[in-house]
Parts: sequence; C-alpha cells; structure tokens
Amino acid sequence: MKYEMMIGLETHVELATKTKLFCSCSTAFGGKPNTRCCSICTGEPGTLPSINREAVRLAVRAGLALGCTINKTTRMDRKNYTYPDLPKAYQISQADFPLCLGGSVTLSDGKKIGITRIHVEEDAGKLIHENGRTLIDYNRCGVPLIEIVSEPDMCSGEEAAEYAACLQKIMRYIGVSDCKMQEGSMRCDVNLSIRLPGAAPGVRTEIKNLNSFNNIIKAVAAEAKRQAEILDAGGRVVQATLRYDADRDAISIMRIKEQADDYRFFPEPDIMSFIVSDDDMAAEKGKIPELPAERAERYVKSYALSKEASELLTRHRRAAEYFEGAVSYGATPKNAANLMQRVMFTVLDNESARESFDVKTTARDAAELIKLLDEKKISFGRATEVFTHMLETGLPASHFIKEEETAGLTDAELEEICRRAVTECAQASDDVRNGRDKAINVLYGFVMKNSRGRADIKKADVILRNILNN
Ligand code: ZN
Ligand code: MN
Repeated sequence: MKYEMMIGLETHVELATKTKLFCSCSTAFGGKPNTRCCSICTGEPGTLPSINREAVRLAVRAGLALGCTINKTTRMDRKNYTYPDLPKAYQISQADFPLCLGGSVTLSDGKKIGITRIHVEEDAGKLIHENGRTLIDYNRCGVPLIEIVSEPDMCSGEEAAEYAACLQKIMRYIGVSDCKMQEGSMRCDVNLSIRLPGAAPGVRTEIKNLNSFNNIIKAVAAEAKRQAEILDAGGRVVQATLRYDADRDAISIMRIKEQADDYRFFPEPDIMSFIVSDDDMAAEKGKIPELPAERAERYVKSYALSKEASELLTRHRRAAEYFEGAVSYGATPKNAANLMQRVMFTVLDNESARESFDVKTTARDAAELIKLLDEKKISFGRATEVFTHMLETGLPASHFIKEEETAGLTDAELEEICRRAVTECAQASDDVRNGRDKAINVLYGFVMKNSRGRADIKKADVILRNILNN
C-alpha cells in the first residue's frame, strides 16, 4: 500500500473489584440477566452514588505501571447520551481531569507507544440481539472501567495488536484486571487514518469493540483497504464509527459523524471531587511487581535464556514465579526453562490456562526433578516423562524414579555399553577407524541412549577410542 497508517487505540479494561463503581452490586461476570443491578445502577431519581475507592486505587496502580503522572485532585463528569444500554441516559466518566496523564508502552522492538490519558468510568449494560429482537442485560451497568487512550503512534495492525497484548500482560501482572477479551473485560476501539508519506493526517474512523488481537489485525487491514480505495477513486473518507464483522471479514458503518459528538459534559453533581494521597500512591506503587518486559530482559541477561524462552516464561506472572521458584530451590535456569516449555506449556496449552496456572506440582518438587537432570542422573526424555506424571498426579519425582535408576554408572557398566556401541554401530565404528571422525557422534548417541543420559561423555570417548584402536 502506498499510504501509511496512523493508529491509536482506546482500550476499556474492567477493574477487578468485587463491587461496582458507585454501589455494592456484584461485578461477577454472567449471572441471570438483570439480577446484579439496583436503583443506583439504573440511576433512579433520589438515589445517590458513592465512589468505590478500591476502583480508584486500581486505576492509580495501572497508571503508575504505565509511567503516567497521577492527577492528585480529580473529579467525575457526566457524559450525556441516549442509548438503550444506558438506563440513566448519562455515563459517569471523566472529561477534563482524567486520573492519569502521559506514560507509554514499549513494544518488543523498542518502539514506544505513548499513552495520552487514562480515565475512570462506569460500564454500560449489554444488548443481546437475537431472532430480530434486542434484549437488554443491565448487570454490567456500573462495573468500574479504565479507558486507556493511546497516541496515534502505531502504523500497522500488528503493532496495534502487540500494543494491546502488552497492555493485557501488564494489567494482569499488576492484578488490575483479568483482561478476558472473550468475556469483554478488555475491549479495544481502533482509530485509523491513512495518508501519503509526508502528507497531513487523513480523516480518521473508529472501529468499535474489537475482542481479539487477531480481529484487531484483520479489522485494521480491512479498514485501511477501504479507505485506500476511497482515496484512490478520488473520494474523501468521512468520519464514522464502524463495526468489524469477523465472520465476513468486512467493515460496516454504524453511524456517520458529521461533527464531533457533543456529550454536554458537566461535573457530576452527586460525587465530590476527590484526592489521591501520596500514601495511596506509594501503597499502589508497592504492589507493582517486576513487569514482564523487564523480567524477560533479566532472564536473558542473568539466566542466559533465549529471548523467545524468556518472553514465554514471563508472559504470565504465575508461570514466571513458578520458574523462579524452581531456580531458587536449586534447579539450573536452562533445564527449568526447557522442561517448563516442553511439558508445562504442553499441558497448559492455552493462554487462559497459563494465566490461571492451576498446577498440582510445586516449584520445589519440580526443582527436585530438574536437579536429577542437572546432575545427569536422568536424561531429558526421562525428565519430561516424569514431569508429565508429576503434573497429572501431584506426586513427587521420587515416586516415579527409583533409586537404582539414578545411581551413577559404574566404570564396568560404562565399559560394557561402549563395547556394545562399537559392535552394534559397526558402520560408524569402521568410519571412525578410517578417519571419518565425525562418525564418533553416532557412538556417543548410542552410549547416551543406553545409559539413559547418565554417561560422562569424556570418559566414554576415551574408552570408545581405546576399543576402536585395539
Ligand atoms: Zn447497583
Ligand atoms: Mn469509554
């Protein structure tokens, strides 16, 4: 494409509070429709909202983790609009004094995506369209959200998806949200415009509510193509709110915006402006663990792991803590990482399983197994087999590995295996005798396999050459 894209994201993240932003209704996902809402949720006359301080604390934590400045004095505003999912006909949000300003997210190639602002607001209800009718569930009304607004710093769908994945990772790490896109606790709106290189920014459109990283990539591609076709035909892009239909891979227009929306914002009269104290800020800062990107970098530096392995191990906080636990109990990082990748991540084969990380084997028990591997008392293959059983049953390695199995090889046993290697790998033995030394690897392989990984390969080399030369 001859055009370049400018992409910004608005990401709604539901905060992990037990109760809603202005009342004590439960925020739990699901439930019978319209059973988790009250007269405050629906804004009936005479009701009075009061703000959930825990939601504010979580929002502050999110801001600090993204390097934002926290507005110490802030307030809520009314955003007025009429839509069936909003029974009050206004949303309590923040306009002029958002809780957090500035900040950034760093992508894996080092590119920084700016964060413009983060504000706190309430969620709206859910419309369910079925059989030509529309049903309304108000359970989600009043669930606390933060809206994270980025700068238009991204220039491809892949970058936008990576940015969203970074946000998800960080928000989960700091315990602010479970960010389940399929359940709607994280939703992305994509703002997109295209322009010729060097030209002024084009007119932007907004694709609403994308619910997977893949759909972000596909929706951006579809919308960029649509805009490019309009420009190529000499037309002009009009400002609009769009929907992306993943099944048909198509963009459709929800509504055209002739001018900017007027929500007639005004300060929310039922909620006092509030102050975030230095103590509150320090407390939230203290709850932010080492974040995934820094952690992955540390794994590369101090554990000499590959970038890919480090990224995989640090993506989910509990997996990273498990790995570090095993290392702290004496396992070598390399074998711990290999075994977790090969076995753990095969058992926990999807993102949500890795996030909840429900495993029966403790890091300490895993370390006991890995140490046998470190000391070459068992082979890697045997370790994967045993680790699989351990994860199935919760039993320790000692239950599956009997003592004689890990007893060291005696010299006589090693000698015996080397003799068999020379006889049974006759071709390789001849090759070595005839000067094709590389063939010795075949013999090493035989020895390692038949000693179940326990042989000292240097010792075996001496013995093998001795046999071959006599
Ligand atoms: Zn309520
Ligand atoms: Mn919003």
